[in-house]
Amino acid sequence: MPFLRRYAGAESFALWHGKLGFRDAGGDWSDFPDDARYVGVPRMTAISRQLSAHVDLVTETRIEQLICDNGSWCLIDTSGHRYNGFDQVLITAPPAQTQDLLKASGLDPIAESLNEPVEAVLPCWAVAARFDESPWDHFEGARVEHPVLYWIGNNSSKPGRHDDGQWWVLHAGAEWTTANVDRTPEDVADVLLEAFSELTGYRGSPSDVVTHRWLYARSEGDWQPGHLWYPDDGIGIAGDWLAGGRVEGAFNSAFDLVTAIDGEH
Ligand SMILES: Cc1cc2nc3c(=O)[nH]c(=O)nc-3n(C[C@H](O)[C@H](O)[C@H](O)COP(=O)(O)OP(=O)(O)OC[C@H]3O[C@@H](n4cnc5c(N)ncnc54)[C@H](O)[C@@H]3O)c2cc1C
Repeated sequence: MPFLRRYAGAESFALWHGKLGFRDAGGDWSDFPDDARYVGVPRMTAISRQLSAHVDLVTETRIEQLICDNGSWCLIDTSGHRYNGFDQVLITAPPAQTQDLLKASGLDPIAESLNEPVEAVLPCWAVAARFDESPWDHFEGARVEHPVLYWIGNNSSKPGRHDDGQWWVLHAGAEWTTANVDRTPEDVADVLLEAFSELTGYRGSPSDVVTHRWLYARSEGDWQPGHLWYPDDGIGIAGDWLAGGRVEGAFNSAFDLVTAIDGEH
């Protein structure tokens, strides 16, 4: 928290006071332990936007190759544009994209060391549905054991949202997503909304629906080195998938990588 207050600003995040629950496979509901849970305000990206405000940031750009010339790295994007003159390159992409980039850059031994995490990535179909009225007031968020859904949450209940109506986020489980990964977004929305209705008893229809397929949503597996740093190549790798997943893992991984590099100077 002191780090975020100092570098992102205390106004970029706040406690989410939503009541959270758990539904077991038998259909019984219970409360989540009453922990402090923080969210970005007014949206999740507020924190990373503030943290990167002082950086020369290039967005909407995919790097497909790294070339080393006399110890200086050049990054080449998919349009062929070159970004020159870097002493080190720190990669924070998911494992599959990191591996592709390393292979395309002739860094095969590092790329091959990532086979295990590349295999361990799980996808997630997600639906955001807007309701004109509150569809459910039992919990603001719930982890559910259900053949289709894994998580349902009232995004509008998070601090600073001020939405017109209520936006609910529905996440499918990894098993269901994997089995249905090539379904159309329309089909997926129908199935997830039907499951939401079954869980909550709400029979109304949403006034707006957005469906998104996260192919690299989270990692499972025991390979958790924290970060990877190859001083001879000047290549570092960080990301949630190296440190237990979730935002905390992403932060710890990057922090430890930078600390390791800093310790050498
Ligand atoms: C639906 C969903 C809900 C989640 N909910 C929560 C939650 O409630 N709490 C929580 O703690 N975590 C949650 N997570 C997990 C959280 O989003 C991740 O842990 C976190 O974003 C990981 O951060 P990261 O920096 O490691 O990677 P990412 O956030 O995945 O960032 C990687 C970036 O690399 C970019 N990239 C990839 N390849 C290239 C390339 N070749 N060139 C340039 N850029 C590239 C990608 O576009 C992306 O922007 C959720 C994830 C999903 C998918």
